[in-house]
Amino acid sequence: MVAKKESHYYDAKENMTLSKRQSYYNQSLVKMVRLGYKNSSRVKKIFDERNIRPSEIGSVKDLERLPVISREQLVKLEMEEPPYGGFSPKDVMTDRIFTSPGPVYEPHLTEKDPIWARGYYAAGFRKGDIVLNAFSYHMVAAGLTFHGGLRRVGATVIPSGASSTESQVQLIRDLGATGYTGTPSFLMGIIKKAEEMGYHFKNDFKVRRASFVAEPLQPSLREKFEKEYGIDTYQMYGATEVGDVAYECRAKNGWHVCEEVIVEMVDPATGKQVNPGELGEVVVTRLNPLFFLFRFGTGDLSRFIKDRCPCGRTSLRLAGISGRVGEAAKVRGMFIAPSQLKLVSSRFGERRLQAVVGREGFKDILTLRVEVEPEEPDRAKLEREFENVFKEICTVKIDKLEFIDKGSLTEKDGLIVDRRTWK
Ligand SMILES: [Zn+2]
Repeated sequence: MVAKKESHYYDAKENMTLSKRQSYYNQSLVKMVRLGYKNSSRVKKIFDERNIRPSEIGSVKDLERLPVISREQLVKLEMEEPPYGGFSPKDVMTDRIFTSPGPVYEPHLTEKDPIWARGYYAAGFRKGDIVLNAFSYHMVAAGLTFHGGLRRVGATVIPSGASSTESQVQLIRDLGATGYTGTPSFLMGIIKKAEEMGYHFKNDFKVRRASFVAEPLQPSLREKFEKEYGIDTYQMYGATEVGDVAYECRAKNGWHVCEEVIVEMVDPATGKQVNPGELGEVVVTRLNPLFFLFRFGTGDLSRFIKDRCPCGRTSLRLAGISGRVGEAAKVRGMFIAPSQLKLVSSRFGERRLQAVVGREGFKDILTLRVEVEPEEPDRAKLEREFENVFKEICTVKIDKLEFIDKGSLTEKDGLIVDRRTWK
């Protein structure tokens, strides 16, 4: 008997051809718009106020005509019209209702929705795995929706939730847990507690895989998990209002957009989509027939990676999260975020630097200040290298490069200084 070869993908959607993918998105969107206009008082209002007919939204590009809705706005709309701000049909029936601080009320879609399953599948979780789910199960969506994702890929779940690190260690030991899902900092807390209790985490326990969400994974921490503790790590990304948005695959280079959401990269000032590869706000529309929240603005900044992923999935990938909308500065129409500057710095041995945005006449001028040693040999070469790396990471060109003495910049000086005045 030949065993059925396990698929590399959670389902066939993940490697659709690009043309098929485009029509899949457009058709799903058309369907959701039609249903939303008919069943949601809020959607009808949004369309009618703008004189948009549902038939005019036929593609992802057309979404630009609809407003981006932030979390704050959603809270306000839900207070005006509880519980779902008119985004759901009046008599909507769901199996669960979650809340998150605000408060925001979120109807859970259905048990059939593959929410979070793609991320766990790509991370290698399967039947036979015993996974500690260290997310809270109380009121909020986290615990139960991650639980559902793990179940859908066949894993056994230990719903440990927000228990103390000591009891998590005990569960890992007694139940032979092979995986973990939660935040990276909490896993490190568990490991430290285990060491305190006299265990050798790698030798005494079986945890070999972890999927993180809700907190950034620092590269140095990732290296520690992987090298020191033998834990293969993956990241997922989402928001409580829209569910799972993107996940990492084995290539660990960018996050694949889930098949159930449309992600746009948007200029927060105009609501228009930015050019491919440019930094923008992550705006999400979850394709579903119950909660018609079009264009949810996450407030997170990211950009799309243009190249195809070697894993074969054809979905777009997000290049991590570069920060929050308020932290970034816009230079000649393009955002630069602190995390991008950190990345530039890491390519030059963590050298301290600072981007200063000024204005001459009607033009933005971007100056990069870089610390150098007094005896730094080839400054012209260094300048060229900085220009190239900066352009590659930030997609904006430096106008002036200023070398300053080592020790001139401190942590407090900030990575981005905006000196423009708009009077
Ligand atoms: Zn991939």
